Amino acid sequence: LSERLGSVFDRLTKQGALSEADVETALREVRTALLEADVSLPVARDFIKAVKVRATGQAVTKSVTPGQQVVKIVHDELVRFLAGDGEPDALKIDNPPATILMVGLQGSGKTTTTAKLAKRLKDKNGKRVLLASLDTNRPAAMEQLAILGTQIGVDSLPIVKGETAVQIAKRAKTQANLGGYDVLFLDTAGRLHIDEVLMDEVQAVRDIAQPRETLLVVDGLTGQDAVNVATEFNAKVGISGVVLTRMDGDGRGGAALSMRAVTGKPIRFVGLGEKMDALETFEAERVAGRILGMGDIVALVEKARETFEAEQAERMAKRFAKGLFNMNDLKMQLEQMMKMGGMQGLMGMLPGMGGMAQKAEAAGFNDKMLKRQIALINSMTKKERANPDLLAASRKKRIAAGAGLDVAELNRLLKQHKQMADMMKKMGKGGMMKQAIKQMM
Ligand code: GDP
Ligand code: MG
Repeated sequence: LSERLGSVFDRLTKQGALSEADVETALREVRTALLEADVSLPVARDFIKAVKVRATGQAVTKSVTPGQQVVKIVHDELVRFLAGDGEPDALKIDNPPATILMVGLQGSGKTTTTAKLAKRLKDKNGKRVLLASLDTNRPAAMEQLAILGTQIGVDSLPIVKGETAVQIAKRAKTQANLGGYDVLFLDTAGRLHIDEVLMDEVQAVRDIAQPRETLLVVDGLTGQDAVNVATEFNAKVGISGVVLTRMDGDGRGGAALSMRAVTGKPIRFVGLGEKMDALETFEAERVAGRILGMGDIVALVEKARETFEAEQAERMAKRFAKGLFNMNDLKMQLEQMMKMGGMQGLMGMLPGMGGMAQKAEAAGFNDKMLKRQIALINSMTKKERANPDLLAASRKKRIAAGAGLDVAELNRLLKQHKQMADMMKKMGKGGMMKQAIKQMM
């Protein structure tokens, strides 16, 4: 794959903004990568479509090809999409006992994940946990949970033969209340495929159990099928989050993207093995990198961006240190100030200048003034901007009139420019300027 990408990127070496063609070519490779990672076809298609709109027209960082830039944009979008915004990564277990319902297909890793989560809550959060298996079809499955419970030092509900899943759920709730437990895990029975009987049973359990969380456990190695599973469970039972298991295997974990896309629910945990501590909270950055499988390119673009910014800051600082601070520089600074929330915003960012913001405002040093100053500079010729010393009285009159302002205001601007140029010179020598410029970029 990287060979194929290499050839595409070789063809796309022109700089500037990303054209539609650049984006389309690169996204074709990205699409292949997503499908190879087992992202379901419709999800891959929708994702690509959304990224295409966002990427077209974006700037290409120096020394990076458009294709590489697109990959970086795709990566960032993937991270953003997988992470969601501000979703808590901890389970909601306030107001005990909190019931957590575990659902999913047979063999997806429900029972194992139940025990892993229980161990985590006990060891890390000091919670008292009760486990209950509702898998009435397979006595061995109930034993399995009890054995794991013993292994991790967590109580499990005594097994009573002949009960239905709903009956066990009721008994478990009562026991959790009476026993003073913080968390109750209900490990449901799975089926090999989605079927009505399974869904009806899980619904009935849900209605009795009133779970705080309903976690869908999905095998990270399943691809296309994961979408159907997630759609069904979310529609019929309603899930609050997803656990992706077998991420220790060779699979690229495209199911994560599919799950997120079809349910809109966060991926909460990732299973990384059979052992009881092989569970991690979900990290979008890591999983995105794995799905896309283009970590080198992403790192390369990030590095290029950093280098570019450092070079830019260096160049500006050097100019200023030499006293090269003309009206174009001032205009750029003024515009930058406007962009960054005006005077107040800027002063707050510069080291040691926070307190000056109020004084400056009081002295009429505000955003309206910034706009007037920009208008004055716009009214100057190219030559005048490059060399403000040219500004004799007649020129001043013309410039002020052009901006619809007084000559007095222009004089204030010139005085300020002089002061700033001197300050820049001093700061540039100290290296403080480079810091300030970098912060502004
Ligand atoms: P259930 O039918 O959904 O309850 O699935 P189980 O919890 O019984 O798991 C089925 C098999 O998958 C077991 O052999 C587990 O040890 C294994 N398993 C579960 N999670 C993981 C994981 O994250 N990685 C690996 N490699 N195996 C896992
Ligand atoms: Mg099980």
